[in-house]
Amino acid sequence: TANAFYLRGARIVFADISEDTLTMDAEDVRRRLTGRTRVIVPVHYGGVGCDMDKLLDLAGSRRIAVVEDNAHGLFARYRGRNLGTLGTFGALSFHETKNLICGVGGALIINDTRYLERAEIVREKGTDRSRFFRGEIDKYTWVGAGSSYQPSDMLAAFLYAQLEAREQIMAMRRALWEGYRERLADWAAGRGVRLPFVPGHCEPSWHLFYLIMQSGEERSRFISHLKEKDIQSVFHYPPLHLSAVGRSLGGREGDCPVSERVSGRLVRLPFYNTLSEDDLDSICARIIAFP
Ligand SMILES: *Cc1c(COP(=O)(O)O)cnc(C)c1O
Repeated sequence: TANAFYLRGARIVFADISEDTLTMDAEDVRRRLTGRTRVIVPVHYGGVGCDMDKLLDLAGSRRIAVVEDNAHGLFARYRGRNLGTLGTFGALSFHETKNLICGVGGALIINDTRYLERAEIVREKGTDRSRFFRGEIDKYTWVGAGSSYQPSDMLAAFLYAQLEAREQIMAMRRALWEGYRERLADWAAGRGVRLPFVPGHCEPSWHLFYLIMQSGEERSRFISHLKEKDIQSVFHYPPLHLSAVGRSLGGREGDCPVSERVSGRLVRLPFYNTLSEDDLDSICARIIAFP
């Protein structure tokens, strides 16, 4: 998320997340805006929409762009609108860890037509080859900065088949997500474990299912407990402001307290398109047996 902007020399400022959805906290963003802010980059964590009304409002009144990192949220909705279509741009990922995959790949959704031609040039090694293919010019040439961003046709074909089956894939993931919630709700409430929260105006992409344990120590014991039965569970993003680069940019403990508090306690459960009901039953039985 940050690296794309870091590559172009932007000064990165990290904002904290909201305790409930674990997505960008618009109030915290407001506090960090300056006259030099150029872009706000919300991550729709787990495919649950950020507080886009507030973020778009903050950005719009200051003529700042919003680029949605929608790597998790393809086909998810926010107040009935698709995530990735709300900001100036939306970035999608088809990396092997996402809902729809082509090994490595992605897409840029361009919601402002002023940037279409520029994007074609960036994608085509800095040339106007796309215009040439449309017959708009009789030869193509180098016109700006770019690189080689087209996926191969074989990867595209592999992805296209999944796009055609998207309703089936989304339904399987939804059943899995709801299956976890139903089986674990009572246990979680009794133990002070938090399950994912989805606001009423968001329809998620069912990208992942996480638990937030009471402490980092409890999380480690929990991961080992599952591992004894060959069930893999994993933690997730450490806060970027405390990464090696984040620290070199001035990041310190305490800058984003909610992110810091949550990241050490969050654990993700097995979640893939073909996970069976039987697997779900045995995983949840093992979870409920956590001493
Ligand atoms: C996977 C992911 C990315 C990176 O996607 P690539 O396709 O590997 O570039 C960016 N942001 C988030 C939130 C992701 O989960």
